[in-house]
Amino acid sequence: MVELADRLNRLSLSASAAISALARELREQGKDVISLSSGEPDFDTPDHIKQAAWEAIQRGETKYTNTDGTRALKEAVRDKFRRENGLDFQLNEITVGNGAKQVLYNAMMATLNDGDEVVVAAPHWISYTDMVVGAGGRPVIVPCSQNAGFKLRAEDLEAALTPRTRWVMLNSPSNPSGAAYTRDELKELCEVLRQHPKVLLASDDIYEHILYDGLEFATPAQFDDEIKARTLTVNGVSKAYAMTGWRIGYAAGPRDLIKGMLVMQGQVTAGASSVGQAAATAALNGPQEIVRERRDAFQERRDTVVKMLNECPGVICHKPQGAFYVYPNIAGTLGKKAPSGKTIETDEDFVAELLRAESVAAVHGAAYNLSPYFRISYAASMDELVEACGRIRRFCESLN
Ligand code: PLP
Repeated sequence: MVELADRLNRLSLSASAAISALARELREQGKDVISLSSGEPDFDTPDHIKQAAWEAIQRGETKYTNTDGTRALKEAVRDKFRRENGLDFQLNEITVGNGAKQVLYNAMMATLNDGDEVVVAAPHWISYTDMVVGAGGRPVIVPCSQNAGFKLRAEDLEAALTPRTRWVMLNSPSNPSGAAYTRDELKELCEVLRQHPKVLLASDDIYEHILYDGLEFATPAQFDDEIKARTLTVNGVSKAYAMTGWRIGYAAGPRDLIKGMLVMQGQVTAGASSVGQAAATAALNGPQEIVRERRDAFQERRDTVVKMLNECPGVICHKPQGAFYVYPNIAGTLGKKAPSGKTIETDEDFVAELLRAESVAAVHGAAYNLSPYFRISYAASMDELVEACGRIRRFCESLN
């Protein structure tokens, strides 16, 4: 029996990864499972991106690269920020890692001392709190109600800040709620931060391109130089270009921070894959039409899923503005009995019984620190989504 480090007791296995693995296992046993638990586009990486990767291999780009990214990719990132966000960064203000996940982790490891606080608005991406804890920090969770659109309000941010606050973590559009902040809403939050000049701001913009109904994307570094000088703008190719497996994320921010992140990354991975970086360069520099086409397909799925879930007794589903998740409220199902005889007391019970009764895999809201909800990823085919929502309805109707 291997004795593991104490630090592992403070971390958890990602709930969505665990449920996706369980769904795969059940499928291998012959069960007709529909898994809506995984946070990745069902589309394939576009061909011109794959082709660029193949050409990089043939050119011999198969060696270590600069730790914080190839010059070509950093230039593509610089151009992307300029073209799409109106933001100017020097190359030494840009870093590349193995996914936005590693980029964020590098940032936490490079800046947090034991007990430093990081404000995280719930519901939030599962990994934020674990990353903070892993780096010795303390997550300060601020619940954001469905009535507030699952968004952090200025007064709640103000109340959460203390002399120990190091970071505020923002994510728009959000995983898991799909909530997207308007420019004005972000501005209000930045106004609060003006009174707290030492606090850093992480803006996780990974779902930037999956934004619906003609809404305009905004990110805090756009406001002014003072905010920009303490904001880490994080993004990546995973979601926009269906490249989750290529593991390339990037960020831009103040030079000192980027340098600290480089030191961290140098001792963990020595940088991202050379081939992945060539592919990401092609994604950022290449045609962008496919991103918009896929966004439109996601929007159509959102509309179907929201409509069908709102027909399920006990479920109230808001209409998200972005990303590819819905986060329906299941308060109306609590206290009822599932077909197995088990009483649904929590959202964890709800998803477990749903999987057992109807073979639909979703993630419980407690994993995102806001209950009673569950998360569905609608990055699946329309046929699968319609079938899954039909099963969820049948499950809800079976509760008594
Ligand atoms: N940020 C959020 C909010 C996410 O949902 C995810 C992935 O699920 C990531 C970051 C990580 O993306 P990457 O694949 O670039 O590591």
